[in-house]
Amino acid sequence: MAFDVPPGYRALKDADVAAYLAGVPAVANQLGGRSADWKVREVGDGNLNFVFVVEGPAGGVVLKQALPYLRLVGESWPLPLRRAFFEHQALITEARVAPQHVPEVFHFDETLALTVMAYLSPHIILRKGLIRGIVYPNLADHMATFMAETLFATSDLGQPAAAKKKQMALFCDNIELCRITEDLVFTDPWRLADGNRWTSPQLDATAAAVRSDGPWKRAAQEFKLKFLGEAQALIHGDLHSGSIMVTESDSRAIDPEFAFYGPMGFDVGALIGNLYLAFFSQSGHETRPGDRDRYRDWILQTVEAVWTLFDGRFRALWNKAHGGDVFMPDLFSSGPDQAAFDAAQDAYMRRLFVDSLGFGGCKMTRRILGLAHVEDMESIADPERRAGCEQRALRLARTLMVDGATFTDIKAVSEAARALQREAARVPA
Ligand code: ADP
Ligand code: MG
Repeated sequence: MAFDVPPGYRALKDADVAAYLAGVPAVANQLGGRSADWKVREVGDGNLNFVFVVEGPAGGVVLKQALPYLRLVGESWPLPLRRAFFEHQALITEARVAPQHVPEVFHFDETLALTVMAYLSPHIILRKGLIRGIVYPNLADHMATFMAETLFATSDLGQPAAAKKKQMALFCDNIELCRITEDLVFTDPWRLADGNRWTSPQLDATAAAVRSDGPWKRAAQEFKLKFLGEAQALIHGDLHSGSIMVTESDSRAIDPEFAFYGPMGFDVGALIGNLYLAFFSQSGHETRPGDRDRYRDWILQTVEAVWTLFDGRFRALWNKAHGGDVFMPDLFSSGPDQAAFDAAQDAYMRRLFVDSLGFGGCKMTRRILGLAHVEDMESIADPERRAGCEQRALRLARTLMVDGATFTDIKAVSEAARALQREAARVPA
């Protein structure tokens, strides 16, 4: 198949990587020693790109290169190399306000569609940690900070209108990656689409019922409309637990190639929805019923802390670091005005909360009925058990999407998750 690649593009092989990096002084210094001593291995477990880890005597780097097609599916699914450009732009934008929560970028090569960045080690992908039952005491704090800082800074509250419009114009062109989300997250689970799959036959009837569930389908389309139309801030666009690398004391968001100006709740929802998926998958990972009770509690506490800390940080930035052209705190400085400002801020955060729940529900649904699934569920070998976990996750997902506005706060959402889980304990799957 012929791909649209710029002159000079070539896909690097393991054997080419050291020679290429030897020509990039900033990276060669990072690695130290001679290029002949650098060890290269391909580690990409993602769906889209090639990722090489390169280690030298002084340190390690990661080289991530886009191919002109989608790795998961192969050459039959072309995908623009320019996604590497958007990923790099997003990484450096995020690094301006949250450098402690992204990998440092050392080099970008537009022709080869590759980025060289810090090798995060001994970090692991958060999703893998959640499956193993590892507690990350600072995860909520770190990710709330990452989201509040990056979303606020790029919103109309954080930057002037002219600057935001310029950035929006740049990211508007990330059409094909947005298109993947538009189809896979908001549409395909609610129709018969190529590539859809689910635990069968256990979920056959459920999948069919979802396809004819009017209110649920409508909610999916309402959220799709927001995704298409609400350019609130530069969002990461794929902030699930497979895009976060962690140690006990460090958390970093990787892989923002889906970044564009979209609704902020899509990022918050991605994280919350994936934590709920992890929550419901736990009963598939315990050796005896109840083994993971404490871990389940920790996941729910983490979800609650993610929202609560995010809400607090975002408001604090609004009050103290406002940089935009709208809702400036000093416009409302006098006494009685303050109440109007506070009410506006409350309403804004409330909308963002309900959006986050709904988008979280969309993300949960697509991981159970759509093309790309999550290891949390896929690694449950017994299909009966897996289907039980997935059914409960789907029930919460529907509630988040259709009835998100009925939740008074995040604690109430966790209570709903807990109630579904309690039902499961009474009637083993
Ligand atoms: P894709 O876009 O193909 O999904 P990712 O950016 O998610 O690629 O990277 C794929 C995998 O490579 C990650 O799951 C992780 O294991 C590893 N990886 C990516 N970036 C880094 C990094 N900076 N440090 C260490 N490992 C990384
Ligand atoms: Mg990835």
